[in-house]
Amino acid sequence: MLKALVPPGLGKALAEHIPTELLEKKVNAVSQEERKSIGRILKGLPLTVTGTMGYDWAVVCDGGVDMTEIDTRTMASRLFPNLFIVGDLLHISRPSGGFSLQLCWTSGRIAGENA
Ligand SMILES: Cc1cc2nc3c(=O)[nH]c(=O)nc-3n(C[C@H](O)[C@H](O)[C@H](O)COP(=O)(O)OP(=O)(O)OC[C@H]3O[C@@H](n4cnc5c(N)ncnc54)[C@H](O)[C@@H]3O)c2cc1C
Repeated sequence: MLKALVPPGLGKALAEHIPTELLEKKVNAVSQEERKSIGRILKGLPLTVTGTMGYDWAVVCDGGVDMTEIDTRTMASRLFPNLFIVGDLLHISRPSGGFSLQLCWTSGRIAGENA
């Protein structure tokens, strides 16, 4: 079942944290407490970053309107009244990994509340 729920590599790593006798049980024989313990293992698995995937896989977002030109309390341009600048248009260098989405949602909300 674990194989169907998580990617194979992760399943292998998780299996090392789950007692063998529990791994070998049929799903309908697993007790509520055992299910909960598997949940705790799934949520609490310690993951240590050991490196990057190298330059060929590196992604970064860069360029845009200089932040000194933006009032970040409202996301309004300091140069053009009533112009609100958000998301990818801002010059905030960032790696990939959700930072761009967080940036567009957060700045978009601030602009939306102040425009
Ligand atoms: C393939 C891909 C994968 C990505 N994966 C991730 C990821 O995993 N995590 C992450 O954090 N970021 C990711 N990003 C980046 C992230 O999607 C963007 O940073 C984010 O969507 C930018 O939001 P935005 O609102 O600034 O711009 P956009 O989402 O580009 O929105 C701009 C909008 O303006 C509209 N528009 C353009 N010109 C006009 C016009 N003249 N009049 C009216 N409307 C107009 C466009 O149609 C568009 O809907 C990914 C981007 C791509 C392309």
